[in-house]
Amino acid sequence: MTNRKTVLITGASRGIGKATAELFGMKDYNVLINYNHSESAARELFSSLQKKGASVALFRADVSQRAAVDSMIKFCTDTFGGIDILINNAGIAASKLFIDITESEWDQMMNINLKSVFNCSQAVLHYMISQKRGKIINIASIWGLVGASCEVHYSAAKAGVIGLTKALAKELGPSHIQVNCIAPGVIQTDMLESFQEEDRAELRSATPLQRLGKPEDIAAAAFFLASDAADFITGQVLSPNGGFVI
Ligand code: NAP
Repeated sequence: MTNRKTVLITGASRGIGKATAELFGMKDYNVLINYNHSESAARELFSSLQKKGASVALFRADVSQRAAVDSMIKFCTDTFGGIDILINNAGIAASKLFIDITESEWDQMMNINLKSVFNCSQAVLHYMISQKRGKIINIASIWGLVGASCEVHYSAAKAGVIGLTKALAKELGPSHIQVNCIAPGVIQTDMLESFQEEDRAELRSATPLQRLGKPEDIAAAAFFLASDAADFITGQVLSPNGGFVI
């Protein structure tokens, strides 16, 4: 067993989670790639990282389901001997008038974007608290900070993630566990698929840095927050957004 640190990244089959898994994998972390529906994409990522010499494993779990999450954490500690960093990245988005959101759509948004953070964080804390060390990084959104029209359920879930981050950071400080949050701006992933090119162009020109974000921009922020260089940072919201929200 090496003394590499272990990171679990939820929703790592695509987009931001995938770029984050690639970065940590190439920087000598043990990486557990979590996925739910995108089995072939997750397997492809796993094989490509393995071929490059990374220490990786793969686990399918719907992070909104507590029993599946508990099995995943057990698999992670059995496979790598522990868990040092949890990145709660899995999420879904949807665009709908508030008046049209159904109860089941509301529940699904909360379960996948917010309850998942409760599930995964509580499950890893059984390990982290006893080792008096660990980092939790939650991926929220600028919409959790400023609200998005036609994305009230998404914005509410992400604002919940920000509140959870701040409160949990206070509770876990004495256990030397840092809890931070990243609130990305508009990032080019499958999540933007429903946007027309003209909407993207508008977003680009409304961004002071004149471009949309890349998954790698968020991976780099997560890598920093996971590093020893961020040991005195907790309860914070880092928002890589090109200046879109200042
Ligand atoms: P994406 O490309 O659509 O990827 C979403 C990832 O989440 C996929 O790997 C998906 O896995 C996983 N996922 C969804 N539901 C899951 C579940 N129940 N259990 C486990 N995994 C699940 O989206 P993305 O843009 O990378 O988004 C990643 C995170 O960043 C999300 O929390 C999102 O809200 C946040 N964010 C994105 C943007 C943006 O502009 N893209 C901006 C701000 C914040 P499967 O396909 O395997 O199910």
